[in-house]
Amino acid sequence: MKISVLASSSRGNASVISAGETAILVDAGISARRIKLGLEACGLAPGDLTGICITHEHTDHISGLAVLSGKVTAPVYCSRYLRDDLRFLAPKADFTYVEPGVKVQIGDFTVLPVSVSHDAIDPLGYIFEAQGVRLGYITDTGDIAPKMLSALRGLNAIYLESNYDPEMLQNSGRPLDLIGRIEGQWGHLSNAQACELVSQIAHPDLRHVILAHLSPECNTPACAGKAMQEVLNKLECAPKLHIAKQAEQLAWIEV
Ligand SMILES: [Zn+2]
Ligand SMILES: [Zn+2]
Repeated sequence: MKISVLASSSRGNASVISAGETAILVDAGISARRIKLGLEACGLAPGDLTGICITHEHTDHISGLAVLSGKVTAPVYCSRYLRDDLRFLAPKADFTYVEPGVKVQIGDFTVLPVSVSHDAIDPLGYIFEAQGVRLGYITDTGDIAPKMLSALRGLNAIYLESNYDPEMLQNSGRPLDLIGRIEGQWGHLSNAQACELVSQIAHPDLRHVILAHLSPECNTPACAGKAMQEVLNKLECAPKLHIAKQAEQLAWIEV
């Protein structure tokens, strides 16, 4: 199994995960043109997609979906309640709804949707399993629920939001209510919360930690990376750290 992050930050997110003949796009929060270019850099075409998994309806996760879904036949997987909203946005898409805790088969992958804590319609993270390895995809969550944590045990790789540094957020000049939203239970994970999550799920076969969804205004790759590297250095398994960026694609990472 391998993953390439086409782009990630608070401004737009899309990744492709592949195993065997199956390729799954996770979120479509950049233009359909950029998604096509990103897939081509991975040796894929949009027509090669087996499925598109959507985490939630915020623009930075679906802005390219309307155009993309008019060009591909791959089903779009999303939560039941979100499907009705997305139908208006992307009328040509073939939607299949998924439910937290209920596994779904997408080509060679077994995919487990998990609930996250975010101010969106039934937002989801996903655990992708194929070829005997497991990758967790957790973004846009203000809280780490025990149920989520137990689903994340035994991962070989995790793609994880590390959205903000609290000091940079406080000094960002943003309105107080927005700061409260980001820091709140239905907001985003801070660097420290991402570190806490990884230290709780670490085990000898955790090989990759991919930090994602960094806020361009309230975080830096150096800041998020330093905090996480300190945690990883203490682990015997020494997972490799990757930091996803908005303008630069992360090439295939073999899980
Ligand atoms: Zn987002
Ligand atoms: Zn969001």
